[in-house]
Amino acid sequence: MNTNMLINGIQVQGAADTFEVLNPANEQVIATVASASVEQVNQAIQAAAQAFKTWQFISDEEINTIFTKIVADIRHEQSEIARLITLEQGKPLALAQFEVEAGANWIEYILSLNIPVETIDDPSGKTIQVFNRPLGVIASITPWNWPFMIVIWHLFPALKAKNCIVNKPSEYTPLSTIKLIEIMNRHLPQGVCNIVLGQGGVGQALSEHPDVAKVTFTGSTRTGQSILSHSVASLKGVVLELGGNDIGIVLNDVDVNEIAPRIFGSAFLNMGQTCAALKRLYVHEDVYDQLTQKLAELADAQVVGDGLDENTTFGPIQNRMQYQKVKSLIDDAVAQGGEIITQQNQETEKGYYIRPTLVTNVNAGIALVDEEQFGPVLPIVKFSQVEDAIYAANHTSFGLGGSVWSKDLEQAQQISSRLETGTVWINSHSDLSPAAPFGGWKLSGLGYSFGLSGLLLFTKKQAIHITK
Ligand code: NAD
Repeated sequence: MNTNMLINGIQVQGAADTFEVLNPANEQVIATVASASVEQVNQAIQAAAQAFKTWQFISDEEINTIFTKIVADIRHEQSEIARLITLEQGKPLALAQFEVEAGANWIEYILSLNIPVETIDDPSGKTIQVFNRPLGVIASITPWNWPFMIVIWHLFPALKAKNCIVNKPSEYTPLSTIKLIEIMNRHLPQGVCNIVLGQGGVGQALSEHPDVAKVTFTGSTRTGQSILSHSVASLKGVVLELGGNDIGIVLNDVDVNEIAPRIFGSAFLNMGQTCAALKRLYVHEDVYDQLTQKLAELADAQVVGDGLDENTTFGPIQNRMQYQKVKSLIDDAVAQGGEIITQQNQETEKGYYIRPTLVTNVNAGIALVDEEQFGPVLPIVKFSQVEDAIYAANHTSFGLGGSVWSKDLEQAQQISSRLETGTVWINSHSDLSPAAPFGGWKLSGLGYSFGLSGLLLFTKKQAIHITK
């Protein structure tokens, strides 16, 4: 298994301490990885800065040719990559295959975008052209939930905007990112895309470096705040995609059989370890019993087990810390009167398994409702007045996404306009589009990724005033 970093096109072992990567299905060590030393982080940044001198002038056609070759290699090696994702992350193989294919499709969408040049006619008669120029070296720091997809979200818009990159993947799931960056380096000039490995300290050394023009980070709000505070000295830009506590508001006119699989699919997508998963469900009292029963049937039908087993539909949680956090949120909710309406786990000796769990008889004020669980448990709250659900939706420091479920699209749109979140879905949730801006309000983030706004995050403006 490849555990090398890639600096300036050359595979190198880390020179600092080592850490282990575990398979969450059985807690066996699948790789021992050596971390980057601070000197190696500096080398990677220098390599990117050197490569930027020429990469910034590459033509759009050349970039698109390179991206097309990368996509072809990803598709060719899809099975191998998917297996790596399942081994290190835990998700069932079919979902890992989806992650790889969706990643390839995402790159193709980025490839189709063009960075605009704006022409302004000044009142005095002169013409002003506004160019979006690349920034330089981008530091990318990624989490463990969608390790292949999220790094694609970071790297390809930055490259398309003609920047060079150093990525640090999560220490829990570095292997599929190592593979991706190895594939990319088959086609990119040396130094354009580098990877360093390690834990939070390596991320900090990378993000604080004065030669990094911008940090793009996906992960917890706490780490995002730390990165932002360290960006002050060099005034570097920061893109933060952070946590969420997305609400789903179900009105009383829905067809329960139609929406239940969609709600279940979103709340438990990737075993609930998805930033924009539906994390608290507010259901009108008229349809509450019917919907909770249907969701419980869907939950109980899941086959929980090792993602490599072809019968498995529901894998383990990715790591012990998260497993314990989810378990303690469930225990706390039950201690406060919450009722579990789904089948419970048979404890296994190894592996971080929690069955998809629905908890009713809960309300705001209980941690499971107020905090981000980031795991396979969904609190369901009954309401009678939609105003109460809207109040609950906004009474949080998060603002990533939300959804409204109704046949009355006009009413759903009115409610959507009152939700304080970067994205609102009507009759779906977590349904991300590469074309639409995606970002969090409040403590859920800074900046809008995806679509053209996602490319422009990695540019700076230059206005050229032309006087004849
Ligand atoms: P995390 O913040 O613990 O770690 C994320 C990355 O940051 C890892 O690579 C880690 O090594 C690195 N890191 C840790 N400390 C650092 C520091 N001081 N400086 C620089 N880097 C540091 O997050 P996680 O546990 O890996 O991910 C789960 C969280 O991510 C959840 O809250 C989830 O909602 C969020 N998330 C958000 C999105 C989104 O798009 N909004 C997507 C996925 C995950």
